[in-house]
Amino acid sequence: MDFELSKEQLDIQQAVREFVNTELTKDYLLEIERHHKFPWEVWKKACELGFVAINFPEEYGGGGYGELEKVLVIEEFCRQGAGAGTAITTANFGSKIILNRGTKAQKEKYLPLMCKGEATTFGAFTEPDRGSDLTTSPLTTNAVKQGNDYIINGAKTFITSASIAKFGIVLCQTDPKVTPPYKGHSIIIIDCPAPGFETSDWEKMGMNSFPSCQVSFNDLKVSGENLIGEENKGFYYAMEFLNEVRVDTAAGAVGIAQGALDRAVDYAKNREAFGHKIGTYQAISHKLAEMATKVETSRLVVYKAAWGIDHNKIDPKICSIAKWYAGRAAVEVADEAIEIMGGHGYMLENDVERFYRDAKSTELVEGTKEIHKNAIAGALLGKLS
Ligand SMILES: Cc1cc2nc3c(=O)[nH]c(=O)nc-3n(C[C@H](O)[C@H](O)[C@H](O)COP(=O)(O)OP(=O)(O)OC[C@H]3O[C@@H](n4cnc5c(N)ncnc54)[C@H](O)[C@@H]3O)c2cc1C
Repeated sequence: MDFELSKEQLDIQQAVREFVNTELTKDYLLEIERHHKFPWEVWKKACELGFVAINFPEEYGGGGYGELEKVLVIEEFCRQGAGAGTAITTANFGSKIILNRGTKAQKEKYLPLMCKGEATTFGAFTEPDRGSDLTTSPLTTNAVKQGNDYIINGAKTFITSASIAKFGIVLCQTDPKVTPPYKGHSIIIIDCPAPGFETSDWEKMGMNSFPSCQVSFNDLKVSGENLIGEENKGFYYAMEFLNEVRVDTAAGAVGIAQGALDRAVDYAKNREAFGHKIGTYQAISHKLAEMATKVETSRLVVYKAAWGIDHNKIDPKICSIAKWYAGRAAVEVADEAIEIMGGHGYMLENDVERFYRDAKSTELVEGTKEIHKNAIAGALLGKLS
């Protein structure tokens, strides 16, 4: 067993660290947070440097690296600023399904746009009436074959960056009669904007540098050539994809927790109260020790999950452990960072209240912690009667 990153991985980590220090400055992060702006200029540069599509093949303009390198990139972006970091590193959300299951023509048409920074994308699974459970009743969003086209109707919600994307993928019901209903799911690529594709943005607690959208499909006509893989296999493709993006989200949570810890340590070394640096008080130093323990344990399990993906040894149980544990740790560490910084911690200028608000979303997206605990317990217990 080797716990060291390779020289190449350390170089990637260092390059991203330098990039975010230069580009995601404190003033810039405050500006986009206050005005809820997508960090377009930094996203474009990050694409050109190969950070966003680091885990896509070079033939499409990607970096040719794996999941662990992607994790390192996400961690560094989110350590600097989670809203902007997540906006940039999820700007290709859904495209991995095109890579995994798309035709050669689909890959050649769509992936270079995303890799080169000419298109942001979205992945639409959640519906207003079903998020955690997409399996037990047919999806509202349905696609009906008409000649060589599909006509899509229905609605999705909370979809990251759908209102600013050039294309995305959507999980639809193509066979409404089959039992169980998930055996009638298909994934279709949507080009946008398009007549019949409408979006509106939610206002939300954190992650304010990208829009979270309600999407409605009203007789949206899409070519049959946009079907990914086989009809009615979409649920399986989605599950394969979700294992990977759960690890991405967990990596973002590690970055948030590390960012909050960095700021709390700095503060504890410099702030004086009752004639001493506050780090000398055991109540503060033990908080820091517990925060560091959570950061380190999260990171270890996230790297292990990423290693499994890169070595064709995906373990969904480990992906679930990484996702729920790192998400919870990020919320707890950011919460403690606010406590350590007292009133200063509550103020927007001091970063940690933003980390706290942003951290909460990592517990919700790609499966809540309850759903991941169900999955972990299911792997331990098997099917009980
Ligand atoms: C910032 C943000 C970005 C997002 N981006 C996207 C995106 O790009 N694409 C996309 O498709 N979706 C996206 N989502 C949606 C997200 O994946 C869902 O919110 C999530 O899957 C939970 O679904 P739900 O909100 O419908 O909650 P529900 O499924 O309604 O769950 C509500 C509560 O019930 C609990 N619960 C449900 N079932 C069980 C059970 N069997 N056992 C125990 N507890 C249970 C849940 O844990 C939760 O606490 C995003 C969400 C957020 C907040």
